[in-house]
Amino acid sequence: MRILVVEDERKLARLIGRGLEEGGHVVDLAYDGDEGIARAGERIHDIIVMDIMLPKQSGLDICRWLRGQRITTPVLMLTARDQIEDKVEGLDAGADDYLTKPFAIEELLARVRALGRRMAPAGAAGTHPTTLRVGDLDLDLLRHEARRGGRPIELTAREFTLLELLMRHPGQPLSRTQIVLRAWPGDSEAISNVVDTYIHYLRDKIESDGLPPLLRTVRGVGYMIRAS
Ligand code: CA
Repeated sequence: MRILVVEDERKLARLIGRGLEEGGHVVDLAYDGDEGIARAGERIHDIIVMDIMLPKQSGLDICRWLRGQRITTPVLMLTARDQIEDKVEGLDAGADDYLTKPFAIEELLARVRALGRRMAPAGAAGTHPTTLRVGDLDLDLLRHEARRGGRPIELTAREFTLLELLMRHPGQPLSRTQIVLRAWPGDSEAISNVVDTYIHYLRDKIESDGLPPLLRTVRGVGYMIRAS
Protein backbone atom coordinates (compact mmCIF):
# COMPACT_ATOMS: atom_id res chain seq x y z
CA MET A 1 0.00 0.00 0.00
CA ARG A 2 1.02 3.61 -0.34
CA ILE A 3 1.10 5.33 3.04
CA LEU A 4 1.42 8.97 4.04
CA VAL A 5 3.14 9.63 7.36
CA VAL A 6 2.65 13.08 8.92
CA GLU A 7 4.97 13.51 11.89
CA ASP A 8 7.07 16.54 12.83
CA GLU A 9 9.65 14.61 14.86
CA ARG A 10 11.89 13.80 11.94
CA LYS A 11 13.72 10.93 13.61
CA LEU A 12 10.46 9.24 14.52
CA ALA A 13 9.03 9.96 11.05
CA ARG A 14 12.02 8.26 9.41
CA LEU A 15 11.79 5.33 11.83
CA ILE A 16 8.10 4.83 11.03
CA GLY A 17 8.84 5.24 7.32
CA ARG A 18 11.58 2.62 7.40
CA GLY A 19 9.39 0.20 9.37
CA LEU A 20 6.54 0.55 6.89
CA GLU A 21 8.88 0.17 3.91
CA GLU A 22 10.28 -3.01 5.41
CA GLY A 23 6.67 -4.13 5.73
CA GLY A 24 6.39 -3.78 1.93
CA HIS A 25 4.73 -0.36 1.70
CA VAL A 26 5.56 2.78 -0.26
CA VAL A 27 5.91 5.75 2.11
CA ASP A 28 5.64 9.51 1.72
CA LEU A 29 6.64 11.75 4.61
CA ALA A 30 5.26 15.15 5.59
CA TYR A 31 6.61 17.13 8.53
CA ASP A 32 3.90 19.66 9.38
CA GLY A 33 0.18 20.21 9.10
CA ASP A 34 0.26 22.27 5.89
CA GLU A 35 2.43 19.72 4.12
CA GLY A 36 0.19 16.98 5.48
CA ILE A 37 -2.89 18.58 3.95
CA ALA A 38 -1.13 19.16 0.62
CA ARG A 39 -0.03 15.52 0.38
CA ALA A 40 -3.31 14.07 1.69
CA GLY A 41 -5.19 16.14 -0.90
CA GLU A 42 -3.40 14.26 -3.68
CA ARG A 43 -5.69 11.31 -2.88
CA ILE A 44 -3.02 8.81 -3.82
CA HIS A 45 -2.61 7.17 -0.40
CA ASP A 46 -4.25 4.05 0.97
CA ILE A 47 -3.67 4.98 4.61
CA ILE A 48 -2.53 8.09 6.50
CA VAL A 49 -0.54 7.76 9.73
CA MET A 50 -0.68 11.09 11.52
CA ASP A 51 0.53 12.65 14.75
CA ILE A 52 -1.97 14.87 16.61
CA MET A 53 0.51 17.51 17.75
CA LEU A 54 1.93 19.11 14.59
CA PRO A 55 3.14 22.59 13.68
CA LYS A 56 0.87 24.84 11.56
CA GLN A 57 -2.19 22.54 11.65
CA SER A 58 -2.86 19.73 14.06
CA GLY A 59 -3.63 16.17 13.13
CA LEU A 60 -7.20 16.83 14.20
CA ASP A 61 -7.40 19.81 11.80
CA ILE A 62 -6.11 17.66 8.95
CA CYS A 63 -8.58 14.93 9.76
CA ARG A 64 -11.53 17.33 9.82
CA TRP A 65 -10.34 18.89 6.56
CA LEU A 66 -10.08 15.46 4.90
CA ARG A 67 -13.55 14.41 5.95
CA GLY A 68 -14.90 17.84 4.91
CA GLN A 69 -13.46 17.19 1.44
CA ARG A 70 -15.08 13.73 1.48
CA ILE A 71 -11.65 12.13 1.32
CA THR A 72 -12.20 8.84 3.09
CA THR A 73 -8.60 7.60 3.30
CA PRO A 74 -8.30 5.70 6.60
CA VAL A 75 -6.42 7.63 9.28
CA LEU A 76 -4.34 6.10 12.07
CA MET A 77 -3.79 8.82 14.65
CA LEU A 78 -0.71 8.89 16.88
CA THR A 79 -1.32 10.38 20.32
CA ALA A 80 1.40 11.44 22.73
CA ARG A 81 -0.50 10.59 25.87
CA ASP A 82 -2.82 7.81 26.75
CA GLN A 83 -5.65 10.21 27.39
CA ILE A 84 -9.19 9.27 26.73
CA GLU A 85 -10.11 12.82 25.61
CA ASP A 86 -7.47 12.71 22.85
CA LYS A 87 -8.87 9.46 21.54
CA VAL A 88 -12.45 10.67 21.62
CA GLU A 89 -11.48 13.91 19.91
CA GLY A 90 -9.48 12.02 17.28
CA LEU A 91 -12.28 9.65 16.50
CA ASP A 92 -14.78 12.54 16.44
CA ALA A 93 -12.55 14.33 13.92
CA GLY A 94 -12.78 11.29 11.65
CA ALA A 95 -9.78 9.12 12.58
CA ASP A 96 -10.28 5.37 12.15
CA ASP A 97 -7.86 4.13 14.78
CA TYR A 98 -5.27 5.47 17.19
CA LEU A 99 -1.99 4.39 18.70
CA THR A 100 -0.41 5.80 21.85
CA LYS A 101 3.25 6.82 21.83
CA PRO A 102 5.61 5.20 22.49
CA PHE A 103 4.66 2.15 20.43
CA ALA A 104 6.44 -0.81 18.90
CA ILE A 105 6.78 -0.66 15.12
CA GLU A 106 5.25 -4.17 14.95
CA GLU A 107 2.10 -2.81 16.53
CA LEU A 108 1.96 0.02 13.99
CA LEU A 109 2.34 -2.48 11.16
CA ALA A 110 -0.43 -4.65 12.61
CA ARG A 111 -2.79 -1.65 12.87
CA VAL A 112 -1.97 -0.59 9.30
CA ARG A 113 -2.66 -4.12 8.02
CA ALA A 114 -5.97 -4.17 9.90
CA LEU A 115 -6.99 -0.79 8.44
CA GLY A 116 -6.00 -1.95 4.96
CA ARG A 117 -8.12 -5.08 5.33
CA ARG A 118 -11.07 -3.15 6.65
CA MET A 119 -11.01 -0.65 3.79
CA ALA A 120 -10.19 -2.98 0.89
CA PRO A 121 -11.60 -6.50 1.14
CA ALA A 122 -9.28 -9.19 -0.27
CA GLY A 123 -9.01 -9.01 -4.02
CA ALA A 124 -10.89 -5.71 -4.28
CA ALA A 125 -9.55 -3.11 -6.64
CA GLY A 126 -8.92 0.39 -5.40
CA THR A 127 -5.59 0.11 -3.64
CA HIS A 128 -3.00 2.37 -5.15
CA PRO A 129 -0.49 0.69 -7.44
CA THR A 130 3.13 0.33 -6.43
CA THR A 131 4.30 0.34 -10.07
CA LEU A 132 3.67 2.84 -12.86
CA ARG A 133 4.10 2.23 -16.58
CA VAL A 134 4.22 4.53 -19.61
CA GLY A 135 5.13 2.81 -22.88
CA ASP A 136 8.15 0.64 -22.11
CA LEU A 137 9.11 2.74 -19.09
CA ASP A 138 8.43 1.13 -15.70
CA LEU A 139 8.71 2.73 -12.30
CA ASP A 140 8.72 0.50 -9.23
CA LEU A 141 7.72 2.74 -6.32
CA LEU A 142 8.45 0.06 -3.75
CA ARG A 143 11.99 -0.72 -4.85
CA HIS A 144 12.64 2.81 -6.15
CA GLU A 145 13.71 1.38 -9.50
CA ALA A 146 13.20 2.67 -13.01
CA ARG A 147 13.50 0.53 -16.16
CA ARG A 148 13.16 1.28 -19.82
CA GLY A 149 12.61 -1.76 -22.02
CA GLY A 150 13.67 -3.84 -19.01
CA ARG A 151 17.02 -2.06 -18.74
CA PRO A 152 17.62 -0.45 -15.30
CA ILE A 153 18.09 3.32 -15.11
CA GLU A 154 19.89 4.97 -12.20
CA LEU A 155 17.92 7.96 -10.92
CA THR A 156 18.59 10.35 -8.04
CA ALA A 157 15.84 10.86 -5.46
CA ARG A 158 14.75 14.14 -7.09
CA GLU A 159 14.74 12.70 -10.59
CA PHE A 160 12.70 9.74 -9.36
CA THR A 161 10.10 11.97 -7.67
CA LEU A 162 9.80 14.15 -10.77
CA LEU A 163 9.38 11.16 -13.05
CA GLU A 164 6.82 9.63 -10.70
CA LEU A 165 4.77 12.83 -10.73
CA LEU A 166 4.78 12.98 -14.54
CA MET A 167 3.94 9.28 -14.84
CA ARG A 168 0.97 9.74 -12.52
CA HIS A 169 -0.43 12.22 -15.03
CA PRO A 170 0.31 10.77 -18.48
CA GLY A 171 -0.76 13.06 -21.31
CA GLN A 172 -1.41 15.92 -18.90
CA PRO A 173 0.86 18.98 -19.04
CA LEU A 174 2.09 20.23 -15.68
CA SER A 175 3.44 23.72 -15.12
CA ARG A 176 6.83 24.31 -13.51
CA THR A 177 5.10 25.69 -10.41
CA GLN A 178 2.80 22.66 -10.15
CA ILE A 179 5.80 20.40 -10.47
CA VAL A 180 7.75 22.17 -7.70
CA LEU A 181 4.74 22.27 -5.36
CA ARG A 182 3.83 18.65 -5.90
CA ALA A 183 7.18 16.94 -6.41
CA TRP A 184 9.18 18.78 -3.77
CA PRO A 185 6.74 20.41 -1.31
CA GLY A 186 8.40 22.17 1.57
CA ASP A 187 11.71 22.25 -0.28
CA SER A 188 12.53 25.95 -0.37
CA GLU A 189 15.59 25.32 -2.53
CA ALA A 190 13.50 23.95 -5.37
CA ILE A 191 12.59 26.87 -7.60
CA SER A 192 10.83 26.52 -10.88
CA ASN A 193 13.92 26.81 -13.11
CA VAL A 194 15.32 23.80 -11.30
CA VAL A 195 12.57 21.86 -13.09
CA ASP A 196 14.17 22.53 -16.49
CA THR A 197 17.47 21.22 -15.19
CA TYR A 198 15.94 18.02 -13.86
CA ILE A 199 13.90 17.42 -17.01
CA HIS A 200 17.19 17.71 -18.89
CA TYR A 201 18.79 15.12 -16.58
CA LEU A 202 15.82 12.79 -16.98
CA ARG A 203 15.90 13.05 -20.77
CA ASP A 204 19.58 12.17 -20.74
CA LYS A 205 18.81 9.06 -18.74
CA ILE A 206 15.52 7.74 -20.11
CA GLU A 207 15.76 8.85 -23.74
CA SER A 208 19.41 8.09 -24.44
CA ASP A 209 20.67 5.76 -27.17
CA GLY A 210 18.08 6.91 -29.70
CA LEU A 211 15.09 5.63 -27.72
CA PRO A 212 11.78 7.29 -28.71
CA PRO A 213 11.16 10.39 -26.56
CA LEU A 214 8.59 10.14 -23.76
CA LEU A 215 8.92 13.60 -22.20
CA ARG A 216 7.43 16.54 -24.02
CA THR A 217 7.89 20.25 -23.56
CA VAL A 218 4.52 21.97 -23.80
CA ARG A 219 5.19 25.51 -24.98
CA GLY A 220 3.92 28.15 -22.58
CA VAL A 221 2.82 25.51 -20.05
CA GLY A 222 5.50 23.14 -18.83
CA TYR A 223 6.12 19.45 -19.27
CA MET A 224 4.27 16.19 -19.69
CA ILE A 225 4.96 12.54 -20.31
CA ARG A 226 3.14 11.09 -23.29
CA ALA A 227 0.05 8.98 -22.66
CA SER A 228 0.58 5.21 -22.61
CA1 CA B 1 4.40 15.97 17.18
